[in-house]
Amino acid sequence: MKIGIMGGTFDPLHIGHLLAAESARDSYQLDEVWFMPSHIPPHKDKAGATGEQRLKMVAEAIKDHASFRTLDIEVRRGGVSYTIDTIEELHEMYPGFDFYFIIGADMVNYLPNWDRIEDLSEMITFIGVGRPGSPLDLLALPSYLQRSVLLADMPLVDISSSEIREKAEMGHSIRYMVPERVYEYIIRSGLYEIQP
Ligand code: ATP
Ligand code: MG
Repeated sequence: MKIGIMGGTFDPLHIGHLLAAESARDSYQLDEVWFMPSHIPPHKDKAGATGEQRLKMVAEAIKDHASFRTLDIEVRRGGVSYTIDTIEELHEMYPGFDFYFIIGADMVNYLPNWDRIEDLSEMITFIGVGRPGSPLDLLALPSYLQRSVLLADMPLVDISSSEIREKAEMGHSIRYMVPERVYEYIIRSGLYEIQP
Protein backbone atom coordinates (compact mmCIF):
# COMPACT_ATOMS: atom_id res chain seq x y z
CA MET A 1 0.00 0.00 0.00
CA LYS A 2 1.18 3.51 -0.88
CA ILE A 3 -0.09 5.91 1.76
CA GLY A 4 0.16 9.69 1.63
CA ILE A 5 0.24 11.45 4.98
CA MET A 6 -1.15 14.98 4.93
CA GLY A 7 0.06 16.48 8.20
CA GLY A 8 -0.77 19.93 9.50
CA THR A 9 -2.49 21.95 12.16
CA PHE A 10 -5.65 22.37 10.04
CA ASP A 11 -6.72 25.37 12.13
CA PRO A 12 -8.90 25.44 10.06
CA LEU A 13 -8.64 22.94 7.18
CA HIS A 14 -8.95 24.83 3.86
CA ILE A 15 -9.15 24.01 0.17
CA GLY A 16 -5.36 24.34 -0.25
CA HIS A 17 -4.95 21.28 1.99
CA LEU A 18 -7.49 19.28 -0.02
CA LEU A 19 -5.94 20.17 -3.36
CA ALA A 20 -2.45 19.36 -2.10
CA ALA A 21 -3.60 15.90 -0.98
CA GLU A 22 -5.57 15.16 -4.14
CA SER A 23 -2.77 16.37 -6.44
CA ALA A 24 -0.23 14.17 -4.64
CA ARG A 25 -2.59 11.17 -4.69
CA ASP A 26 -3.24 11.59 -8.39
CA SER A 27 0.39 12.25 -9.39
CA TYR A 28 1.85 9.23 -7.56
CA GLN A 29 -1.09 6.76 -7.57
CA LEU A 30 -1.35 6.73 -3.79
CA ASP A 31 -3.86 4.18 -2.50
CA GLU A 32 -5.00 6.45 0.32
CA VAL A 33 -4.24 9.80 1.93
CA TRP A 34 -4.44 10.03 5.71
CA PHE A 35 -5.04 13.53 7.09
CA MET A 36 -3.22 13.87 10.37
CA PRO A 37 -3.67 16.91 12.61
CA SER A 38 -0.66 17.50 14.85
CA HIS A 39 -1.03 17.97 18.59
CA ILE A 40 1.28 20.82 19.57
CA PRO A 41 3.21 21.78 16.48
CA PRO A 42 6.88 22.23 17.33
CA HIS A 43 7.23 25.43 15.30
CA LYS A 44 4.02 27.24 16.12
CA ASP A 45 2.62 29.09 19.09
CA LYS A 46 -1.02 28.88 20.05
CA ALA A 47 -3.80 27.36 17.99
CA GLY A 48 -7.37 28.61 17.90
CA ALA A 49 -9.20 25.27 17.79
CA THR A 50 -8.62 22.22 20.01
CA GLY A 51 -7.27 18.92 18.74
CA GLU A 52 -10.76 17.41 18.79
CA GLN A 53 -12.17 20.36 16.84
CA ARG A 54 -9.40 20.14 14.24
CA LEU A 55 -10.00 16.39 13.85
CA LYS A 56 -13.69 17.10 13.38
CA MET A 57 -13.06 19.74 10.70
CA VAL A 58 -10.86 17.28 8.81
CA ALA A 59 -13.45 14.50 9.11
CA GLU A 60 -16.19 16.80 7.81
CA ALA A 61 -14.06 17.93 4.88
CA ILE A 62 -13.03 14.51 3.60
CA LYS A 63 -16.02 12.30 4.28
CA ASP A 64 -17.12 12.07 0.64
CA HIS A 65 -13.69 11.05 -0.68
CA ALA A 66 -13.33 7.26 -0.86
CA SER A 67 -9.52 7.34 -0.45
CA PHE A 68 -9.16 9.99 2.27
CA ARG A 69 -9.03 9.07 5.97
CA THR A 70 -8.49 10.87 9.28
CA LEU A 71 -5.55 9.84 11.46
CA ASP A 72 -5.75 10.88 15.11
CA ILE A 73 -2.40 9.39 16.19
CA GLU A 74 -0.67 12.72 17.00
CA VAL A 75 -3.60 14.34 18.78
CA ARG A 76 -4.04 11.13 20.85
CA ARG A 77 -0.33 10.87 21.67
CA GLY A 78 -0.35 14.45 22.93
CA GLY A 79 2.77 16.46 23.70
CA VAL A 80 4.82 17.94 20.92
CA SER A 81 4.30 16.17 17.58
CA TYR A 82 7.50 15.15 15.87
CA THR A 83 6.98 13.48 12.51
CA ILE A 84 9.83 11.03 13.11
CA ASP A 85 8.06 9.61 16.22
CA THR A 86 4.85 9.26 14.25
CA ILE A 87 6.49 7.52 11.30
CA GLU A 88 8.29 5.08 13.59
CA GLU A 89 4.93 4.25 15.16
CA LEU A 90 3.22 3.89 11.77
CA HIS A 91 5.95 1.55 10.49
CA GLU A 92 5.34 -0.71 13.49
CA MET A 93 1.58 -0.62 13.02
CA TYR A 94 1.65 -1.10 9.24
CA PRO A 95 4.70 -3.15 8.24
CA GLY A 96 5.34 -3.14 4.51
CA PHE A 97 3.40 0.07 3.81
CA ASP A 98 5.18 2.87 1.92
CA PHE A 99 4.57 6.29 3.42
CA TYR A 100 4.70 9.56 1.47
CA PHE A 101 4.55 12.78 3.45
CA ILE A 102 2.76 15.57 1.56
CA ILE A 103 3.95 19.12 2.21
CA GLY A 104 3.60 22.60 0.74
CA ALA A 105 6.58 24.54 -0.62
CA ASP A 106 7.02 26.51 2.62
CA MET A 107 7.58 23.21 4.45
CA VAL A 108 9.86 21.83 1.72
CA ASN A 109 12.17 24.78 2.30
CA TYR A 110 11.94 24.27 6.05
CA LEU A 111 12.72 20.51 5.98
CA PRO A 112 16.38 20.88 7.04
CA ASN A 113 15.10 22.15 10.43
CA TRP A 114 12.87 19.13 11.12
CA ASP A 115 13.79 16.92 14.04
CA ARG A 116 16.12 14.02 12.99
CA ILE A 117 15.45 14.87 9.37
CA GLU A 118 18.32 12.72 8.03
CA ASP A 119 16.83 9.60 9.65
CA LEU A 120 13.32 10.59 8.58
CA SER A 121 14.38 11.08 4.96
CA GLU A 122 15.51 7.43 4.85
CA MET A 123 12.14 6.21 6.13
CA ILE A 124 9.70 8.12 3.91
CA THR A 125 9.47 10.07 0.67
CA PHE A 126 8.24 13.65 0.69
CA ILE A 127 5.85 14.94 -1.97
CA GLY A 128 6.10 18.72 -2.29
CA VAL A 129 3.47 20.95 -3.89
CA GLY A 130 3.69 24.60 -4.91
CA ARG A 131 2.50 27.38 -2.69
CA PRO A 132 2.38 31.10 -3.57
CA GLY A 133 5.01 33.11 -1.72
CA SER A 134 7.34 30.12 -1.26
CA PRO A 135 9.53 29.59 -4.32
CA LEU A 136 10.67 25.97 -4.54
CA ASP A 137 14.38 25.48 -4.96
CA LEU A 138 15.23 21.81 -4.50
CA LEU A 139 18.88 22.47 -5.33
CA ALA A 140 19.16 24.61 -2.21
CA LEU A 141 18.41 21.54 -0.08
CA PRO A 142 21.14 19.24 1.24
CA SER A 143 21.72 16.34 -1.15
CA TYR A 144 20.24 13.70 1.18
CA LEU A 145 16.95 15.64 0.96
CA GLN A 146 17.07 16.24 -2.79
CA ARG A 147 16.89 12.45 -3.14
CA SER A 148 13.82 12.17 -0.91
CA VAL A 149 11.59 14.93 -2.28
CA LEU A 150 9.25 14.36 -5.24
CA LEU A 151 7.16 17.17 -6.67
CA ALA A 152 3.49 17.15 -7.65
CA ASP A 153 1.72 19.80 -9.73
CA MET A 154 -1.23 21.51 -8.16
CA PRO A 155 -3.26 24.60 -9.03
CA LEU A 156 -1.71 27.25 -6.77
CA VAL A 157 -3.95 28.31 -3.91
CA ASP A 158 -3.07 31.52 -2.09
CA ILE A 159 -4.86 30.64 1.15
CA SER A 160 -3.50 29.95 4.63
CA SER A 161 -5.21 29.03 7.88
CA SER A 162 -3.71 32.08 9.62
CA GLU A 163 -5.20 34.37 6.97
CA ILE A 164 -8.58 32.68 7.44
CA ARG A 165 -8.41 33.13 11.23
CA GLU A 166 -7.51 36.82 10.83
CA LYS A 167 -10.29 37.44 8.32
CA ALA A 168 -12.87 35.75 10.55
CA GLU A 169 -11.77 37.77 13.56
CA MET A 170 -12.05 40.99 11.58
CA GLY A 171 -15.59 40.11 10.54
CA HIS A 172 -14.77 39.28 6.90
CA SER A 173 -16.17 36.32 5.00
CA ILE A 174 -14.18 33.08 4.82
CA ARG A 175 -16.84 31.26 2.87
CA TYR A 176 -15.54 28.99 0.06
CA MET A 177 -11.98 29.24 1.39
CA VAL A 178 -12.94 26.25 3.49
CA PRO A 179 -15.27 23.43 2.36
CA GLU A 180 -18.93 24.17 3.06
CA ARG A 181 -19.21 21.57 5.85
CA VAL A 182 -16.15 23.01 7.58
CA TYR A 183 -17.69 26.47 7.29
CA GLU A 184 -20.89 25.21 8.90
CA TYR A 185 -18.92 23.53 11.68
CA ILE A 186 -17.00 26.77 12.37
CA ILE A 187 -20.27 28.70 12.63
CA ARG A 188 -21.89 26.02 14.82
CA SER A 189 -18.92 25.90 17.18
CA GLY A 190 -18.34 29.66 17.32
CA LEU A 191 -14.69 29.21 16.31
CA TYR A 192 -12.42 32.14 15.38
CA GLU A 193 -14.92 34.65 16.76
CA ILE A 194 -16.75 34.33 13.44
CA GLN A 195 -19.95 36.27 12.80
CA PRO A 196 -22.28 34.42 10.43
P1 ATP B 1 -0.98 28.39 9.15
O1 ATP B 1 -1.20 29.67 8.41
O2 ATP B 1 -1.68 28.31 10.47
O3 ATP B 1 0.45 27.95 9.20
P2 ATP B 1 -1.42 26.70 6.84
O4 ATP B 1 -2.41 27.23 5.88
O5 ATP B 1 0.04 26.88 6.52
O6 ATP B 1 -1.76 27.27 8.29
P3 ATP B 1 -0.88 24.12 7.93
O7 ATP B 1 -1.84 23.31 8.72
O8 ATP B 1 0.23 24.83 8.61
O9 ATP B 1 -1.76 25.19 7.07
O10 ATP B 1 -0.30 23.28 6.71
C1 ATP B 1 -0.28 21.89 6.62
C2 ATP B 1 0.43 21.51 5.33
O11 ATP B 1 -0.32 21.98 4.19
C3 ATP B 1 1.83 22.12 5.19
O12 ATP B 1 2.69 21.17 4.56
C4 ATP B 1 1.59 23.31 4.28
O13 ATP B 1 2.74 23.65 3.53
C5 ATP B 1 0.50 22.78 3.37
N1 ATP B 1 -0.34 23.86 2.85
C6 ATP B 1 -1.12 24.68 3.57
N2 ATP B 1 -1.75 25.57 2.78
C7 ATP B 1 -1.34 25.31 1.50
C8 ATP B 1 -1.61 25.92 0.23
N3 ATP B 1 -2.43 26.96 0.13
N4 ATP B 1 -1.01 25.39 -0.86
C9 ATP B 1 -0.16 24.34 -0.73
N5 ATP B 1 0.14 23.72 0.44
C10 ATP B 1 -0.43 24.21 1.55
MG1 MG C 1 1.54 26.58 7.94
